[in-house]
Amino acid sequence: MSADTTRLVDLHNYVDGDWRAPSGEEGQRVVNTATNETLAEVTFSTTEDVDAAVQTGQSAFETWRETPVEQRIQPLFELKQLLEEHQEEIAETLVREHGKTFDEAMGELRRGIENVEVACGIPSMMQAGHLPNAAPEIDETAVRKPLGVFAAVTPFNFPGMITLWFLPFAVATGNAFVLKPSEKTPHTAQYIMELVDEAGFPDGVVQMVHGGADTVNALLTHDGIEGISFVGSTPVAQHIYETAAEHGKRVQAQGGAKNHIVVAESADLAFAADQTISSAFANAGQRCLANPVAVVEDAVYDEFAERVADRAEGLTVAEGLTGGVDMGPLITPDHRERVLEYIETGVAEGGDLLVDGREIDVPDEGTFLGPTVFGDVDPDATVAREEIFGPVLALLRADDFDHAIDLVNRSDYGNAASLFTDRGGDARRFRHDVEAGNLAVNAGTAAPMAFFHFGGWDDSFFGDLHAQGEDMIQFYSDKAVYIERWPDR
Ligand code: NAD
Repeated sequence: MSADTTRLVDLHNYVDGDWRAPSGEEGQRVVNTATNETLAEVTFSTTEDVDAAVQTGQSAFETWRETPVEQRIQPLFELKQLLEEHQEEIAETLVREHGKTFDEAMGELRRGIENVEVACGIPSMMQAGHLPNAAPEIDETAVRKPLGVFAAVTPFNFPGMITLWFLPFAVATGNAFVLKPSEKTPHTAQYIMELVDEAGFPDGVVQMVHGGADTVNALLTHDGIEGISFVGSTPVAQHIYETAAEHGKRVQAQGGAKNHIVVAESADLAFAADQTISSAFANAGQRCLANPVAVVEDAVYDEFAERVADRAEGLTVAEGLTGGVDMGPLITPDHRERVLEYIETGVAEGGDLLVDGREIDVPDEGTFLGPTVFGDVDPDATVAREEIFGPVLALLRADDFDHAIDLVNRSDYGNAASLFTDRGGDARRFRHDVEAGNLAVNAGTAAPMAFFHFGGWDDSFFGDLHAQGEDMIQFYSDKAVYIERWPDR
């Protein structure tokens, strides 16, 4: 691994197989979060830039939809290979613009590549069914058809993986695809587009426009966009869902989260503490699957709290390419300020500050913050309810298992939850009663593989079909049924 393999290039849109400068007047600095050094300036795309991409996508779709499925997946096999070959370089790019550790970046890309692998199975997955003699002399056949140009709008925290939640499925099913990556981490998406360019997709099938809210709104209201996938914060997810629906589009909008871990009396506490630490503090807490609240049964609360506090104090906070680092910086100075305000609110609302991230030794440059652990947090306290999206863990004391489940289900969000237990009965009850879309037992992070859908309920999701797996095929196609009778004459 060496610094000069990082690809921080001028940021361009990828339209019609070509690199074009976005023509907007607004833009934003992209920074190395560990040093505050400016990496690039991203210029936002205008309505005209978006229109050019959508129109190109529409004409590319006419040919692509007719391309036999076996041919459509060949560039995906090539893309998988290229992603594997460039995984380390993309990971370094990701570390520099995002701040996560190198291992986290490699892990993120692995999960992204899995989606490409799954989408290569489209020839089997896209079949919809055939039944001879469905009625007297009648055969019936269901088919799935692609629809046109789809867009995806992605967040800063997983710029590699989340791009690949959508791109491979959209094009394998026969659609054209336009990506609007986060303006905070655009290099990772651009690197993936360079590999898309090399992989041999016909021009216009996969495109990218850089930009901010106005660029997104131009996609949301464009007549040529059939559907939109969004991943980001809950208020924006709601806006996307409503606006896209108002404009007659398919939409799936995944929002923010505030996930819980339940630690039952019977749990292996050392294991549960280790998993809680990695769940709460990986990616500096900037994960929609992080579990920043641990609800612990009273009988084991004190021992668990002590273990977690010890482990949190031992985490190494440094630049993500440093060897042995556990946690990198936060995404922006503003975001760090926001997290600091939450810590102050947590103290003001009576939380017991077991580990204070403001006092942990971190590098002076960049947007670093140490891990913070609050003990005996009131379930109604702000730090127990609101998404902080930073390295802050709240421990809640539950009278018993029933009480723990009640506390989990009080959340407005429903992205994920984990349980640590040694009892099958607890696990069964948890799976049945907890209101969240991604559940794990004896695992800190409920991250589904690419051949399963990525869940999310309540304020964490607006729509019906989720990312990844079979849901993606349904989202990117519509069904038609053929009824045929050929009587002998
Ligand atoms: P964000 O909502 O600020 O931005 C996401 C995308 O929306 C970006 O591409 C941005 O340009 C665009 N955007 C921002 N404001 C907009 C507006 N007013 N109108 C139209 N578009 C707008 O989110 P973020 O800070 O990049 O990402 C962090 C959030 O994403 C967290 O809340 C996290 O929980 C959530 N997230 C959710 C999942 C999930 O699967 N549920 C996964 C990852 C991240």
